[in-house]
Amino acid sequence: MPWPFSPEHDELRSSIRSFVESELAPNAEEWEDQSDFPDWVFRRLGELGFLGLSYPEEYGGGGGDYLCNIVLAEEMTRCNSGGVAMAVAVQTDMAVPPVHKFGTEEQKKKYLMPALTGERIFCLGITEPNAGSDVASIKTRAVKVDGGWVVNGRKTYITNGRRAHTMTLVAKTDTDAGHKGITLFIVDTDTEGYEVSRALDKLGMHTSDTAEIVFDDMFLPDDAVLGEVGEGFYNISWELQGERLFGAAAAVAGAQRTLDAASSYAQQRKTFGRPISKHQVIRHKLADMATEVEAARQLVYSTAWKVAQGDYPVREISMAKLLSGQVAWNVADQALQIFGGYGYSMEIPIQRAWRDTRLIRIGAGTDEVMREIIGRMEGL
Ligand SMILES: Cc1cc2nc3c(=O)[nH]c(=O)nc-3n(C[C@H](O)[C@H](O)[C@H](O)COP(=O)(O)OP(=O)(O)OC[C@H]3O[C@@H](n4cnc5c(N)ncnc54)[C@H](O)[C@@H]3O)c2cc1C
Repeated sequence: MPWPFSPEHDELRSSIRSFVESELAPNAEEWEDQSDFPDWVFRRLGELGFLGLSYPEEYGGGGGDYLCNIVLAEEMTRCNSGGVAMAVAVQTDMAVPPVHKFGTEEQKKKYLMPALTGERIFCLGITEPNAGSDVASIKTRAVKVDGGWVVNGRKTYITNGRRAHTMTLVAKTDTDAGHKGITLFIVDTDTEGYEVSRALDKLGMHTSDTAEIVFDDMFLPDDAVLGEVGEGFYNISWELQGERLFGAAAAVAGAQRTLDAASSYAQQRKTFGRPISKHQVIRHKLADMATEVEAARQLVYSTAWKVAQGDYPVREISMAKLLSGQVAWNVADQALQIFGGYGYSMEIPIQRAWRDTRLIRIGAGTDEVMREIIGRMEGL
């Protein structure tokens, strides 16, 4: 693999960085305190073209390659709020890609174009109270009626769930057809029968809104079907690959920032007459952290490069997701230890990195699910 980023990617990186550092990061503390952030963030990102970096120009996208998404994932970590970065990631790399990949021209005009400007905020409805890892066991049911579908069921842990105008929904359309009994729908959240039943409190990612949604005899017209009826399981499995790789890139970039903070603290904080970085045990801890972050980054970059070449490397994506989550978590935990009592205090942000980072080992497919996929692909 050659170095994946071109001078154009570097330019993009500088402009995203300058926006994130000047317009988002200064608000992070306030937004964290409020456990929320304003919708203008989506519109401003859209105005700057950052919501549609690799979507085709004909729909208002930037026409870039997949590596532009990786640049966005990495630079968004500089906003100092994992919840904001995650909410934006749901828009750019989770809920909207299926609309582009599987949508009709009408759906792309109606939903994709305003998603790229940030006027239409999306959420993704897969998980249910009794089905997360086992997507095929979802119970939300769409029953065919004259002119459309009637949906009943419940989704949970839905990021952007309260603020979204549109949901990319995964529902069961045939209870006897196994994996072929699942279909994707595009749902306007003001549809009668769509109700945000409650907002969920969380360990971390406080600024992102996470909601439970109930569908009560919600009627969807036939043209709400996204892709083919019965193809939803395969289509959402495709979507999950992008979600995982984007999350892996963000996790590694976040880990690098946490490592930098710990390293700089270790060079200033003195115990027993010298900076703690001069105690071999701390120096070796930082050396291990740097090595792990570099290894995870190389795996993310080589995998993203393959995706940019048109490949679909499920094995490497699963490995990148697994490794980056574990590395990011270990780095956050070790960094907190290096900060000592300050690390445990709410006055400096390391505790937030520790809380926010824990999610990567659960969301978008748990560590255990990644191991199952990798194991299968290793022929086990
Ligand atoms: C903050 C947050 C935001 C989220 N955002 C969204 C969103 O926007 N949209 C959405 O649809 N979902 C979202 N999720 C849901 C998330 O994707 C799921 O939590 C995740 O997929 C795991 O599903 P689960 O919680 O039901 O756990 P379960 O599937 O019940 O798993 C419980 C445990 O069992 C393990 N396990 C399960 N199956 C196996 C197996 N075969 N072998 C070994 N171990 C196994 C799991 O790894 C886990 O440790 C979000 C979750 C959180 C916490």
